[in-house]
Amino acid sequence: VASMLVVEDDATIGRALRISLETRGHTATLVTTGDDALRACSDAHVDLVLLDLGLPDIDGVAVCERLRAAHPALLIIILTARDDEIDVVTGLEAGADDFLTKPVRLAELHARLDVHLRRHAGTTAGTTADGTTRITMGGLVVDLARRSAHIDGRDLPLRAKEFDLLLRLAQEPGVAVRRETLMADVWGVRWESSTKTLDVHMAALRRRLTAAGDHTGAVMPLITTLRKHGYRLDPPEPRPGDDS
Ligand code: CA
Repeated sequence: VASMLVVEDDATIGRALRISLETRGHTATLVTTGDDALRACSDAHVDLVLLDLGLPDIDGVAVCERLRAAHPALLIIILTARDDEIDVVTGLEAGADDFLTKPVRLAELHARLDVHLRRHAGTTAGTTADGTTRITMGGLVVDLARRSAHIDGRDLPLRAKEFDLLLRLAQEPGVAVRRETLMADVWGVRWESSTKTLDVHMAALRRRLTAAGDHTGAVMPLITTLRKHGYRLDPPEPRPGDDS
């Protein structure tokens, strides 16, 4: 059971989404403007926002950016018109965790929500296969129990899905992970449905790792892109003089 906010100015769609969420036992509030969405998220705790990008007052992408800035842990799923790829990429870069195209199929909506909420609660990532709760790669430590990453003891701020991606890759260091597998394991969706989601999040994760390495001087693992196949997280080469 989660607290959800539906931001949708089309009354019919908004109402259908709200009722469907409530039927599944969630608490759902419906608002129709960007202003009301921002207010609702600052007034009360919200776990997840379904955000239509075409709103009457503030542009949905700007709403997404402001929600992300104010609430780092909030799950944001944007709703876009079919085939509107520019909207999708802009929305993901503005901080959305995922997107659904309209008309929203309710079975798909609930399947995705289940995965997002389960991952968010951390119940799928407590330990690795051999029972450890930390993965260390060079200066980077991925803490499964706390769902956080550190570099030389300092927090590396990551969005929820960036952490999930890093964790998934770090669980098989040096092994190529197929795009389909990453989509299924991190977003719970079939590969064909949202390739952009993976690419945008992976680009953001890579930028953060690189920037953190540059900033701290720590040796960092590298994300390697395997064209048309997937990604691989390569442990850093030991520096000359390192004993380990
Ligand atoms: Ca709209």
